[in-house]
Amino acid sequence: MGKVRVASPIVEIDGDEMARVIWSMIKEQLILPFLDVDLEYYDLHISNRDATEDQITLDAAVAIRNHGVGVKCATITPDANRVSEYNLKRAWPSPNATIRSVLDGTLFRKPIMVKNVKPAVRSWKKPITIGRHAYGDIYNSVEFRVPEAGRVEMVYTPEGGEPLHMKVHNFDGPGVLMGMHNLDNSIKSFARACVTYAISQNIDIWFAAKDTISKEYHGKFKEVFQQVIDRSQKELEEAGIQYRYLLLDDAAAQLMKHEGGVLISLMNYDGDVWSDFVAGGFGSLGLMTSVLVSPRGMYEFEAAHGTVTRHYYRWQKGEKTSTNPVASIFAWTGALAKRGELDDTPEVVAFAEKLEKAVIDTIEGGEMTRDVALASGFSESGSLDTEAFIAAVAERLAK
Ligand code: NAP
Ligand code: MG
Repeated sequence: MGKVRVASPIVEIDGDEMARVIWSMIKEQLILPFLDVDLEYYDLHISNRDATEDQITLDAAVAIRNHGVGVKCATITPDANRVSEYNLKRAWPSPNATIRSVLDGTLFRKPIMVKNVKPAVRSWKKPITIGRHAYGDIYNSVEFRVPEAGRVEMVYTPEGGEPLHMKVHNFDGPGVLMGMHNLDNSIKSFARACVTYAISQNIDIWFAAKDTISKEYHGKFKEVFQQVIDRSQKELEEAGIQYRYLLLDDAAAQLMKHEGGVLISLMNYDGDVWSDFVAGGFGSLGLMTSVLVSPRGMYEFEAAHGTVTRHYYRWQKGEKTSTNPVASIFAWTGALAKRGELDDTPEVVAFAEKLEKAVIDTIEGGEMTRDVALASGFSESGSLDTEAFIAAVAERLAK
């Protein structure tokens, strides 16, 4: 069988620990034997980020901006422990945050469904994707522990204008306080990325917030989102995509009797919480993919899980681990399918679909890693280690 030629380059971003070990197995056994592909490689191993003063992360982000499609392995976001573990110059920022800010992107998390793993919610038949706005709100807020009685005000001083004072609360004893903000442009980009994503997946969009209570803050989100939807009306109609605004609590209740196949767009905090609860409801972190979509249509695909440190320490000691490579494989197929779509090369899209089918068939045929066996209600004793699972997928793919 001849190799399939991928017309344009894909930006490949390597990472850390167990995720990196799996990454090279996938590349050697499931990608390179079948594809003639130009991979522009960026090594974001923590030591290389340290050696380049993190310039490599910025370069990788710019490369995605230039080529449009990237695929990323999980990376360590260093904290104090990691600084000493890897002898780093400093705790470099999260690569995902750096890449997100260069691409001005929004993260979408989508579960991979297999017949053996039944979602916790009976009505869920299709994947539920969560789109999380990743700027502002409590994540860039100012907090204050009010020590004793006193008056708290917010003050807005327009450039060259008079200050405007707003009373927050007259405290008659100790309490707490938080000030948060968001930006029209950031909300617009978020809404635009949601429209781009929904069209690429051909699914409806819900946006949920609590504008009945927060008339200005949440109200602003609802309004700006709606403006972007109105401006995208023609595209959405052509794709047959419906948009609904729901109150957040209504959306929670509706989701429990919905069949899925929908994008739920949420503000930062809601998206943080809901993406974990939806992920839990679908079974395993090893079956959850993630894609960063820029409002200008650039894509970075990855697994939603991290570097799986606990497994890596066991692997370093020479033990076999049953780390699930499926989300990382789907990061590759997501990138390949998108590349094929943008290049208008259906044979590349077809390869991505074939590889995904080989993975699903392998699991549904009873060969799976430990996490999936546990989520399926099987005993873990029959589960495969990572190498054996990838070999089983490769064998199916070659057929
Ligand atoms: P994690 O790597 O996702 O792992 C947490 C636990 O979830 C694992 O110990 C394992 O549980 C289970 N798990 C996750 N992925 C799995 C897989 N593919 N197959 C089987 N089990 C899987 O999260 P973490 O331990 O919180 O973070 C580790 C490192 O990853 C940190 O340095 C963090 O900065 C980084 N991180 C990176 C990204 C990213 O690059 N996108 C995202 C999150 C975290 P058991 O041990 O019980 O088997
Ligand atoms: Mg979270």
